[in-house]
Amino acid sequence: MIRINDIIDKITENHPDAELDIVDRAYIFSARVHDGQMRLSGEPYLSHPLEVAGILADMKLDSISIAAGLLHDVIEDTYATPDEIKNMFGPEVLHIVSGVTKLSGLTFDSSQTRQAESIRKMILAMADDIRVILIKLADRLHNMRTLQFHKESKRRKIAQETLDIYASIAARLGIYWIKKELEDSSFKYLDSEEYSRIESLVSEDKEGREKYLETVKDYIEKKMNEADLECEVRGRYKNFYSIYQKMIKQNLAFEDIYDIIGFRIILDRIPQCYEALGLIHALWKPVDKKFKDYIGVPKHNMYQSLHTTVIGPVGERIEIQIRTRDMDRVAKSGIAAHWSYKEGKSIDENMSKTFAWIQNLVENQADFRNPDEFLENVRIDLFPDEVYVFTPDGEIKSLPRGATPIDFAYTIHTEVGNQCTGAKINGRLSTLKNELHTGNIVEIITTKNHHPSKDWLNFVKTVKARSRIRQWIKIQEKERSITLGREMCEKSFRKYRLNFNALLKLEEMGKAVEHFGFKTVDDLIANVGYGKITPLQIIRKVTPKPEPKEENESILGRIISHVRKKKHRAGVIVSGVDDILIKFGKCCRPIPGDFITGYITQGYGVTVHRTGCVNALKMNPERQIDVEWNKNATETYPVKICISCHDRVGLLADIAANITKNGANILGLKTEILENKSAICFLTIEVKDAEHLHKIISAIKKVGFVYKVKRIDR
Ligand code: MN
Repeated sequence: MIRINDIIDKITENHPDAELDIVDRAYIFSARVHDGQMRLSGEPYLSHPLEVAGILADMKLDSISIAAGLLHDVIEDTYATPDEIKNMFGPEVLHIVSGVTKLSGLTFDSSQTRQAESIRKMILAMADDIRVILIKLADRLHNMRTLQFHKESKRRKIAQETLDIYASIAARLGIYWIKKELEDSSFKYLDSEEYSRIESLVSEDKEGREKYLETVKDYIEKKMNEADLECEVRGRYKNFYSIYQKMIKQNLAFEDIYDIIGFRIILDRIPQCYEALGLIHALWKPVDKKFKDYIGVPKHNMYQSLHTTVIGPVGERIEIQIRTRDMDRVAKSGIAAHWSYKEGKSIDENMSKTFAWIQNLVENQADFRNPDEFLENVRIDLFPDEVYVFTPDGEIKSLPRGATPIDFAYTIHTEVGNQCTGAKINGRLSTLKNELHTGNIVEIITTKNHHPSKDWLNFVKTVKARSRIRQWIKIQEKERSITLGREMCEKSFRKYRLNFNALLKLEEMGKAVEHFGFKTVDDLIANVGYGKITPLQIIRKVTPKPEPKEENESILGRIISHVRKKKHRAGVIVSGVDDILIKFGKCCRPIPGDFITGYITQGYGVTVHRTGCVNALKMNPERQIDVEWNKNATETYPVKICISCHDRVGLLADIAANITKNGANILGLKTEILENKSAICFLTIEVKDAEHLHKIISAIKKVGFVYKVKRIDR
């Protein structure tokens, strides 16, 4: 077991001026609260935080990180409270310890491993301080080193999670030695047979291999020196897991893998690198397509090097990397270059920015004299544009920031989205507009036969949700237009004693479809519904002879032109349908401001009634359709008013003057004189909306000898 003094020594070695008091206090506190707890190994629990702190010291981290490492399990596993940590060690230490505790709450089973990428991103996103991740990695590393004390089933689970998630995170952050160790130890527990086989194969001819390594190394050095290229040559072994991966991916037997050993040539300047490459290629035949120039075209994460594979002295393949000292330092300083190349993935822009940032931080770590300055730089927001949420089954979904339960519903299934009526976030009911946050568990409530709403388009964030909602609205519009168009056609055709549905099957109808420039009969009928084509136009097309009777045509023509004229008002929007024929009920004469409803009428589009209209109430509810006033329209509407007054000279003139003064037209007037010198006037006037009408009525009421003014239906 590592002792606190060893850790202190390591810290002073890396940071001679480091503040050690906080580390001492953290050690004492951790020892006190973990007192009496045991590891499965039988060691006192304190050994774990000590080992973790030791690993962090090896990573050359600062005192605050190491103190946090000593305390990383106290909130989760002891009676210590967050407030205590904050009071004793300050908000930074608490922030880091809380972050580690939060991550410890996440466990993933093997069925979720296909989501490894999302999980990795989520973990990185949840830790807003890079030190949280570094402690988590050190924690996992020590847990893997002591995994033999767990039960077999638990070992496998932890090893799989380590391989899928933590090894990759280490690779991404460029802490390559941790990545290798995590991979090899996971591999050992996941497939002990293969692991032992490769282990023994590698050690089998160790002596021969070492000799080979030295020979090739010396040979390269000699050739370089002959060409006046001063360099350092290094030979290295691949880790077991990489060898295993190579065997699987390329379907090779162990004997066929020659590049278990790779070579690296380090020089001073860039031109020397290309010179060295030329020399190597002159010595040994390069393997086609294996040459990569990451000096000319650096990787996104700033990694630079020349990579080549050649056929070596005994006919084996040799991997060689050539780079400058500076490039070598960058590649090792932390944020590794290796992962994208090894794992065959490309790095997105977000990631490369992060790499550049962390790389810079790691390289300049020594320059941060002021701890505040360092702290400011270790706060990270790796994926600012994404949130990660769970399904109730624990599946992770990645969504853009600001996404809502509707977006989530559509990522599950289009029908789940379409029938979504509610949502629960972390078990509590939520509105559909609520913004989701990383870590939320989201449950969608669906109702059969429920449909998407146009409003949803105002707040959904994903392209998928948006396009699915639009698609649904479009289909609905078309379906409604087809129904409407069909009714209109059936009715008009009947007038000419034609059977529309029978005609549909005939060749003439096909010609008509073509004539109007459509692909299908449905398109043609839908366009009748949209009001773009009249049934009469179709009738003319399908029955050129005999001509429709003059009289009928004129009646129909009149009706259609009448309807079309009305349509131009466009003062009303029919829900889900664009460009439809609209009429206003003569029975109730709706004006803007009135509550209205629409009814699909046999043949002529939609008739708009006031909600309370007796005729509207008598209509078949199945024909009912939602309508609303178009706020942008500037139409005027006829409305009837009834005025009770005393019959006096000039009264009508006064009333008329008041109406005109208020900007309305008088369309009609009828007066009835009653016996007792009183009179009733019925006026039809043209108004903009209910407010306009109200203004006029108030004005008329002020005219002398007027008793009562009210709006009437007919
Ligand atoms: Mn731990």
